[in-house]
Amino acid sequence: MRGPWIIAISMAGLLSAGADAPDDPLLRPVAPDHARQWLTPQEPVRLFGSTYLVGFGGLNVALIRTSDGLILIDGAVPQAVHDIEANIARLGYSIRDVRLILSTEPHYDHAGGIAALARDSGATTVAGAAAAPVLRDGGGDPDDPQAAWLARFPGVTNVRAARDGERIRLGDTVITAHATPGHTLGSMSWSWTQCEGRSCKRIVFASSLNPIAADGWHFGDPTHRRFVQAFRGTFAKVQAMGCDMLITSHPASGDGDKLARLALAREPHPFARADACRAYADDARIALDKRLAQGL
Ligand SMILES: [Zn+2]
Repeated sequence: MRGPWIIAISMAGLLSAGADAPDDPLLRPVAPDHARQWLTPQEPVRLFGSTYLVGFGGLNVALIRTSDGLILIDGAVPQAVHDIEANIARLGYSIRDVRLILSTEPHYDHAGGIAALARDSGATTVAGAAAAPVLRDGGGDPDDPQAAWLARFPGVTNVRAARDGERIRLGDTVITAHATPGHTLGSMSWSWTQCEGRSCKRIVFASSLNPIAADGWHFGDPTHRRFVQAFRGTFAKVQAMGCDMLITSHPASGDGDKLARLALAREPHPFARADACRAYADDARIALDKRLAQGL
């Protein structure tokens, strides 16, 4: 009796875990229906200098090679981690060489994969002061405008809070942290300079500035004034930031076409646009004003 019983248990274990993939709690899919729309496969590509894109058609993940290891910006969803690591490998690098993971916001679509990426690399995660505790908890911030519908995600253990304006150095590369609150109070954008020959460009990886809230949560509510004030300050800051090249946490419409053009020619560079940050902030300001006018 003992033999068949053990076989039955083993079979059940195999079936529930899948034949080839042991269950990994840090890779369990989060919001799979939404995520599927964002995870359109995308060829890993060198954007400019030593900056690469290793993410997806609907979620950007940036990789920066420095003289002392790699930096990642954002980590998509947990189920995307295998593909991000494969994209890094296709560029000839290794996840194990990632030293820093910079986070734009503590939402599952941009931070859900960070716990696994940090585990696999041993990297330190850096985030805005208000975002760091939310990343450690894996979401669940009750004050978030989208709290009612946000999915939780694996908590990140090794998180350091960055100050607004802090310059973070790794090897030959310096990345500046810019607090850009509004979409979340801990949102952070990141800027750095890259050169190709004598041509140098300031690249900005901007956090989402989308003024979106769950049903029943209104930006016009006086108790939510701090979010509107935060957004106003962020719009002014991003408009004045000046960037030669903008990466947004969700790719802008048209970025796919630009990547296709980049594969054909790097000059003129399809992503080079001197007013990119100003236009990004302007669009978000118009969206917030529209929401407020509608009483939302
Ligand atoms: Zn978000």
